[in-house]
Amino acid sequence: MAIKSVNPYTLETLKTFDEITDSQLEKAIDTAHDAYLDWKKTSYEDRAALLNKIAATFRSKKKELSEMITTEMGKLIGQSEYEIEYCANIFEYYAKNGAEFLADQKITTAVGEAVLTKAPIGVILAVEPWNFPFYQVARVVAPNLMIGNTIVLKHSSNVPQCAQAFEDIFTEIQAPKGLYTNLFLSSKKIEKLIENPKIQGACLTGSEKAGASLAQFAGKNIKKSVLELGGNDPFIVLEDADIDRATDLAIKGRMINNGQSCVASKRFIVLEQVADAFLEKFTKKMEALKLGDPMDKETQLGPLSSQDALDTLLEQVNTTIKQGATVVTGGKQANLKGAFMQPTILTDLKPDMLAYQEELFGPVASFYRVKNDEEAIELANATRFGLGSSIFSKDMERAKNMAKQIDSGMVFINQPTKSNESLPFGGTKRSGYGRELSALGMDEFVNKKLIHAV
Ligand code: NAP
Repeated sequence: MAIKSVNPYTLETLKTFDEITDSQLEKAIDTAHDAYLDWKKTSYEDRAALLNKIAATFRSKKKELSEMITTEMGKLIGQSEYEIEYCANIFEYYAKNGAEFLADQKITTAVGEAVLTKAPIGVILAVEPWNFPFYQVARVVAPNLMIGNTIVLKHSSNVPQCAQAFEDIFTEIQAPKGLYTNLFLSSKKIEKLIENPKIQGACLTGSEKAGASLAQFAGKNIKKSVLELGGNDPFIVLEDADIDRATDLAIKGRMINNGQSCVASKRFIVLEQVADAFLEKFTKKMEALKLGDPMDKETQLGPLSSQDALDTLLEQVNTTIKQGATVVTGGKQANLKGAFMQPTILTDLKPDMLAYQEELFGPVASFYRVKNDEEAIELANATRFGLGSSIFSKDMERAKNMAKQIDSGMVFINQPTKSNESLPFGGTKRSGYGRELSALGMDEFVNKKLIHAV
């Protein structure tokens, strides 16, 4: 089956790619494994030098790669440029800190001398989504190369140009063949791939369904997995918050990547004293957003990644409206060519409604009023997801105390959930397990080996 790259703004097919054959796949895994056997013997200095070369290439190709993101999946061009810079930062961060994160640790013991060393484990399979087509890959590749592992990657079928471009960087800097391999592959082949004894671990960023499927095959084959899945992040606003700032950041938090981010703020939970003021300002700011060409720097909201993504979102919104929700603004496809959704706010949501339970992957916000902090925490936790959360308040102690009671992997105070190379990223409950980025991102696919001498 051909893999297609389609511009979601013009709906034009840009390129098609052929799926890899079974024999090519087997050969690719063999090459990645051979590369691992050599790579694991290299020094941290050599690995860091390679990571720095990759970072420099990202910086030198920033224009070309960011335009590729925008034409292939519709991200606003300014955000695409930021994504490429962020990838360079991630590679530089692990080049700089990797050796320290992997350093031997002495263990105090009554008998003899004990040391914990961190050793590579082999070829890691990464399955990644289209929404941050370079960053999602960078946050797996950089720490694992520093550890001494090699990577084979199955990217989303709708971003084949970005997938190929990542591998091309390795060719361009003349990295050893097999350190990083892009596989144009149907997700149906994942089971077979995980069974291959040369694959030692697997990670997936994407939907619950895909994550559960990968984890099942990894479990069956006794291989470690890391899952970064969906979210339905609460954005809590207390009565003492600065409402102008909170509504500006509510727009930023909800609209990042045209609303298609796992850690986008999705459920706006506002204390009743300021609920009307918040909703009025939030609605005005939503309605003022300029929709249009994602390549135009003036545009504030671009298309969804595909017509299919728009159809799914419209169906979810329509179902929720039929179930009795109120539309504050939007609710329909925008009157533009391309996969555009109107900026939308839904309210009067009840637990039996679709938008209360499910992640809406697009520019649709759910608005809730609550009486007090306890009700806010209860509602924030009333989801099967647990990825990020935000709390807005001038009272830092109160916000920190609430943060401890929220069941999510990350809580951000007076800011929407964000990602930074130095901060651990990941969730709890059905948002997945394991962490990426920071020192913790190097802790997943290593053999924490004890050496004990008497
Ligand atoms: P998706 O359909 O699950 O796709 C993600 C990746 O998994 C793609 O490479 C996809 O390949 C592959 N895949 C699909 N079904 C699979 C299966 N049964 N077994 C193995 N692999 C499979 O997710 P998406 O719709 O592209 O992405 C949106 C979801 O990802 C949202 O839920 C979002 O919240 C989540 N996400 C989470 C994070 C995080 O860090 N927690 C970050 C970004 C996105 P094909 O394209 O070939 O189907």
